[in-house]
Amino acid sequence: MKSPKAAFFALAVAGAAVLAVGQPSSSPVTAIKAGRLIDPETGTAAARQVILVQGEKITAVGPNPAIPAGARVLDLSGLTVLPGLVDAHTHMALTYKEQPENYYYYLTYVMESTPLRAIQAASNGIQLLNSGFTVVRDVGNNALYADAALRQAIEQGWLPGPTVIPSGPMIGSTGGQYWPTPEMYKYHNIMFPEYIDANSPDEIVRAVRENMLFGARTIKLCVDCKPWAYSVEDIKLAIKEAAQGGCKVEAHVQSAEGAQRSIDAGVYIIAHNSALTPEHHRQMAEKGIFLAGTDTPFMPYRGSETAFKRTVANLRSAWEKKVPLTFSTDMDYWNERMKDPKSGEWLSRGELTINFLDTWKAAGIPPADILRAMTTNGYKASDIIHQRGPVQAGFYADLIAVAGDPLTDIDALRGVVFVMKNGQVFKKDGVMTPEKFFHPGPVKIPSGRWTR
Ligand SMILES: [Zn+2]
Repeated sequence: MKSPKAAFFALAVAGAAVLAVGQPSSSPVTAIKAGRLIDPETGTAAARQVILVQGEKITAVGPNPAIPAGARVLDLSGLTVLPGLVDAHTHMALTYKEQPENYYYYLTYVMESTPLRAIQAASNGIQLLNSGFTVVRDVGNNALYADAALRQAIEQGWLPGPTVIPSGPMIGSTGGQYWPTPEMYKYHNIMFPEYIDANSPDEIVRAVRENMLFGARTIKLCVDCKPWAYSVEDIKLAIKEAAQGGCKVEAHVQSAEGAQRSIDAGVYIIAHNSALTPEHHRQMAEKGIFLAGTDTPFMPYRGSETAFKRTVANLRSAWEKKVPLTFSTDMDYWNERMKDPKSGEWLSRGELTINFLDTWKAAGIPPADILRAMTTNGYKASDIIHQRGPVQAGFYADLIAVAGDPLTDIDALRGVVFVMKNGQVFKKDGVMTPEKFFHPGPVKIPSGRWTR
């Protein structure tokens, strides 16, 4: 410090930072110089912004905030900076394959243990973070709470990964999405842990409570997986019980009737767009129900032209009716055609996820609206918008950077060259440098179970 005045100023800045986010003033400050900073909520960008980060959170944003002496400066002045991306519907601990199980995920469940699937989930998390996804809603088919374990491991600082919003096993009426044999159902308990059978009101309440007890941050209901489906009253009961644990409910919907009951009950999110009609879309927009459409692109490794046309038309309808859309994938399968046609290299789970942009582009949705679905709406649907997403003082520093401008060319998001998660640099200059995320013990014990 050269003068008492400068010293006082530095203290004042440090003090303001402490007041703003409660970080110890000893944490080093990082100053990110952004060529452009996107606000996805408004679909606008501001040139030459500086983002100050201390500890895990943003402390200041603006064209010229006072950069404390000794701050690390990250020069992203040639890049566009924006909040991290959200996949609002995926399954991190499930990879059902063409070989050997012919995409039959009963077999995945029989052949792959929870520990193996949890390690797959950890790997998928790193791959998704590398592509700029800093939040995932992980909604069922995750073996025995591998999704909740992944969240816990990332939170405690064992390894890098997105913020995981786990649901625990899907809750459904007898059979869930399976059609098991009597032997497997009655004598081998094949349903659990991929599904929890819950039929009566008592069983629904118990299932919701158990999932929350074991780490769920959202509740996933199979509303109409069977003809003996959930009624409006059943769904309302689940919503009421989930609210006690601070959770919102996502309805898996595969029929028009199931969609209507979910809307009438007032679920927070509807998963899968294939059975929804324009009238459902209208009602969802009116009620503010999020859509996780899981809009599969037509690729050499997945889909058909006919199915794709339908998916595109359904997504277009939802957008026209102003449903709050999220970017969502159900990206949980694998085959040997998942390679880059040019390089012949395997595509990562992150690259396979970002490929879902093709559907949004085919539906003619403007880049600003796609970006809002991938960020603001994703953070809202994850129910974490008060902590993450906005690039503002007091929010977690989950930031990515790309060359080009996603507001005019959404494909710019395919080239994420910088990723920061919770204030730590995970990727820089296009290269993963995650070593600081790995520890031989839990370096961070979250302060309270209900800290979201
Ligand atoms: Zn799914």
